[in-house]
Amino acid sequence: MVTTPYYIYDTQLLRDTLESIKRAVAEMPDTYVHYAVKACTNPKVLQIIREAGFGIDCVSGGEIMAVRQAGFEPKGIMFAGVGKADWEIELGIDEGILCFAVESIPELEVINEIATSKGKIADVCLRINPNVGAHTHANIVTGLSENKFGINMDDMMNVISLCEQLPGINFHGLHFHIGSQILEMDDFKALCRRINELQDKLDCAGIHPEIIDVGGGLGIDYEHPEQHPIPDFDSYFNVFKQTLKLRKGQKLHFELGRAIVGQCGRLITKVLYVKKSGAKQFAIVDAGFTDLIRPALYGARHKIVNISNTGDDLETYDVVGPICESSDVFDKDVRLSRTKRGDLLAILSAGAYGEIMASQYNCRRLPQGYTTDELK
Ligand SMILES: *Cc1c(COP(=O)(O)O)cnc(C)c1O
Repeated sequence: MVTTPYYIYDTQLLRDTLESIKRAVAEMPDTYVHYAVKACTNPKVLQIIREAGFGIDCVSGGEIMAVRQAGFEPKGIMFAGVGKADWEIELGIDEGILCFAVESIPELEVINEIATSKGKIADVCLRINPNVGAHTHANIVTGLSENKFGINMDDMMNVISLCEQLPGINFHGLHFHIGSQILEMDDFKALCRRINELQDKLDCAGIHPEIIDVGGGLGIDYEHPEQHPIPDFDSYFNVFKQTLKLRKGQKLHFELGRAIVGQCGRLITKVLYVKKSGAKQFAIVDAGFTDLIRPALYGARHKIVNISNTGDDLETYDVVGPICESSDVFDKDVRLSRTKRGDLLAILSAGAYGEIMASQYNCRRLPQGYTTDELK
């Protein structure tokens, strides 16, 4: 029995999206795409991404366990995160992951200690904060020097020297990630130019990183998901192809989350009541920010449609949830076909940072996730 609210993932669209990425990078030598698993950890989604041959970007020990469980190889796991706990570092070393993206000197020292105590050497990339802004929501910008992420550019040389002195550390390359939901290709161009500058500096010092990891952050079209179900991967990868100057033999890594799964998932919710109040009409639904927090957290907007009535009898509604918080609003002044109690609404483009961010506030049940293969 399927009960609302629930997520449903379109497996055909997911497969097409993955294929479209593979086509776009097919002619880029030594290029690896990792799926940033924090966007969606639904096991059936993970299985399809694994079958497509993608690597993984993790930001916690729990994610490493989840992707190992889903059958991903440790050698494809990049492990980022500004505050890795000792047990998470141990787990990464024991599992033999590809690389730690290290965000500070104290973290580097702890990784060195733990690796040394195990008689191992940890491969690390240094996550450099490139001080490149991104035209996106302030809460999801990560590449400015005022953000908590990464190592300041000016400290890069010193930290690389420190790597060379630490017996448990192997300096493997540089890592970047400037933010999320980025649709301005110029932001990625600016990142490439910054990386070129940093590499020039490294050349002078005779340092040759094996890996350049440019992170993720490519956005999706939340306004017109039907017209753009698959992001424009060609334009995105072309920026790097054309602007980033890689050195001979250097491997280029990407870590895309939202762009892979965002459009593949939708949240289905049932209308409990339609309430008229003054000039307003509220569609009170059984999903709340406990099921999809993006609107409440960042004022994000998702397209909402009535899938029980697709007629052209449009009316205006505020679509709100049942949680006892005023921010529990999915969107205001939404044009929906005439909506009544019992209708199902679909909140589109909810595949990324949706199900995985669900909480049990108000002692609510967690939403279930299904695929289109399971529910016809
Ligand atoms: C979140 C994250 C990503 C993925 O970001 P998207 O915007 O979902 O593509 C990639 N790399 C790191 C280090 C991250 O924290």
